Amino acid sequence: MRRALVVGNWKMNGTRDSISELLRALVPAVSHGINGVDIVVCPPSPYLTVVADAIKGCEIVLGAQNAWCENGGAYTGEVAPGMLVDCRARYVILGHSERRQQLAETDELIAQKFVAAQREGLIPILCVGETLAQRDDGHAEATVSGQINAVLTVAGVAAFERAIIAYEPVWAIGTGCSASAQEAQQMHAFIRTLIAGHDEEVAGAVQLLYGGSVNPGNAAELFEQADIDGGLVGGASLDAAAFIEICNSV
Ligand code: PGA
Repeated sequence: MRRALVVGNWKMNGTRDSISELLRALVPAVSHGINGVDIVVCPPSPYLTVVADAIKGCEIVLGAQNAWCENGGAYTGEVAPGMLVDCRARYVILGHSERRQQLAETDELIAQKFVAAQREGLIPILCVGETLAQRDDGHAEATVSGQINAVLTVAGVAAFERAIIAYEPVWAIGTGCSASAQEAQQMHAFIRTLIAGHDEEVAGAVQLLYGGSVNPGNAAELFEQADIDGGLVGGASLDAAAFIEICNSV
């Protein structure tokens, strides 16, 4: 039985004040957990320790939004996975489409980051997903399998015993236009079958999240699908009431 997981991706939003305010609403509501749902929040790096202190002793777990593929050295502006661990993060989002597109992150770099993150004990949340053009051309599955295979080749299937995969169709991110529950389930089933081709046990256990305009109105139907184990939530995770409602939808 896979546990449900809801991850809040705050992206490049917030100030110390606004984050404190968000946590003042969130922490009391989820301090004892919500229906066995694991809850992770991923603030921008400068606020990791602020959030770590604020969620101490409560069921919320800390994640980060990115890490570099080496654990230290002359990489100006980058953040080492070990630093994230030092700041008490347990998860790290890797391969988000915004970074793939705007920062030209390649499948190969993301695979190296994945390995480096796991080496330091972090759980990678590997984001995959196709653009609208790729979907329209009938290449959605090929795109997603290419993104996952790049990591499988470098890290091996056993690495997915300690990793999460988030399917985030690029056309659904921040657009208010989520994939339908059926579209999302179809791709999640495809991903699970892809992993099963390497190891059935790992495929049965790996948590698959859906991301892309998840909100309190569509979360329940999405999370009800057989192969969707929770969500990676962007915009709605900045609103405590909406995020709590989404967590309650699992
Ligand atoms: P969204 O973002 O929920 O605002 O669509 C999801 C994500 O990018 O992780």
